[in-house]
Amino acid sequence: MSEYFPAVVIGAGHAGLAASHFLTEASVDHVVLERGEVANSWRRERWESLRLLTPNWQSRLPGLPYEGQDPDGYLTVPEVTELIERFAKVSRAPVRPSTAVTSLRRTGDRYHVTTSDGEIRCQAVVIATGACNRPVVPGLAEGIPAGVGQLTPFSYRGPAQLPDGGVLVVGASATGVQLAAEIQRSGRPVTLAVGEHVRLPRTYRGRDVLWWMDASGVWDQRYDEVEDLTRARRLPSPQLVGTPGRTTLDLNALAALGVELVGRWAAVRDGRALFSGGLRNVFSLADLKMNRLLGTFDEWATASGRDAAGLGTEFGPPERFEPTRVPASPRWQLDLGSGEITSVVWATGFRPDYEWLDVPVVDPKGNLRHQGGIVEDSPGLYALGLPVLRRRKSTFIYGIEDDAREVIDCLVRYLGKYPA
Ligand SMILES: Cc1cc2nc3c(=O)[nH]c(=O)nc-3n(C[C@H](O)[C@H](O)[C@H](O)COP(=O)(O)OP(=O)(O)OC[C@H]3O[C@@H](n4cnc5c(N)ncnc54)[C@H](O)[C@@H]3O)c2cc1C
Repeated sequence: MSEYFPAVVIGAGHAGLAASHFLTEASVDHVVLERGEVANSWRRERWESLRLLTPNWQSRLPGLPYEGQDPDGYLTVPEVTELIERFAKVSRAPVRPSTAVTSLRRTGDRYHVTTSDGEIRCQAVVIATGACNRPVVPGLAEGIPAGVGQLTPFSYRGPAQLPDGGVLVVGASATGVQLAAEIQRSGRPVTLAVGEHVRLPRTYRGRDVLWWMDASGVWDQRYDEVEDLTRARRLPSPQLVGTPGRTTLDLNALAALGVELVGRWAAVRDGRALFSGGLRNVFSLADLKMNRLLGTFDEWATASGRDAAGLGTEFGPPERFEPTRVPASPRWQLDLGSGEITSVVWATGFRPDYEWLDVPVVDPKGNLRHQGGIVEDSPGLYALGLPVLRRRKSTFIYGIEDDAREVIDCLVRYLGKYPA
């Protein structure tokens, strides 16, 4: 005999718990299925020194505002885990831990959820299994000599785990720049392969740059207003780190630490890593985009009257930052068999895992086909926690409340139309 619930939520990260919060508010009987424990990704898939890059005042969840003493600080991983656990308790989420979903099928207007602990039938499902279930490792990995160790952000815990010697960090988004800095500081010389990236200063005109993203409305831009949605959903995470000193961690800062910058890793030939040229172009594009964004903030500050003369200076004056310095003659190849490099760290992004999903709603690139979290061609199926799901801020802890409220609202209307 299988159980029945009107709705099932898969995943007890902050997104699944936010779904549960609004389902409870709407009196929809449901269960949250979690293969591990609440906040599983934060317990098992993050490195030790990681802090959120979003400031504490943005670490708020539905019904759980930030009430700590340090609104401008950045939570550590144990603190994030504790926050999500607290959210699960406060919202009395009906979580079933250690219950992995191994298959989701649809027959007629019902879904069949197969779990490690039995079958559940339901009318509606919220997929909240996360956007970062697997690190992306390019095919280049296969050409790396056996003596060179390889790690991903899931297997990397800290620099002490690495052998002595040089480290090639691949990718210069948030993860890549953070790991490059930490490893370089540990005394292992880092070479950083840099492709397309998003440069941001930590603070702008005296405020956290993410304050500007929020206040100016950039983060609230909706998925149906974004010009190139596919591109926006694939945008790398910004070069930001959360440190008590609110330091900027762009490529100039890394170069000042002694990190060697090389182009995008394009190929492996005869045991040599070959890097693309054109660093100058890659750097100037990132600088240009950063300056455009800062210009948007300035325009908003003026248009909203918040920096008008006579009202007092709420912010410092507009700032522009030194362009990214291009190394004089960046190396274009590196002999991986020479012993110079002992480890490669892949910071080349993450992807979701839908191997368990037996409903044909995943596109050839492995992404869920959905419109603002309403899965296409499968009525009653919803998603939360994916990049630019309904807004630019969708994947952030801070972004879940608006998305979850709206997606659950759609789900509740669906249940009203198609009662069990
Ligand atoms: C390195 C890194 C740094 C980040 N930094 C920030 C930051 O500074 N600020 C910020 O706001 N956000 C940050 N994020 C983004 C985001 O907050 C996290 O990715 C967050 O974990 C996403 O929450 P979620 O609930 O969507 O997914 P997850 O937290 O990944 O939760 C999904 C849950 O689903 C479970 N699950 C998966 N598959 C199954 C299955 N088949 N059956 C049952 N359960 C399943 C998992 O065990 C997991 O508990 C960061 C992400 C990463 C990867």
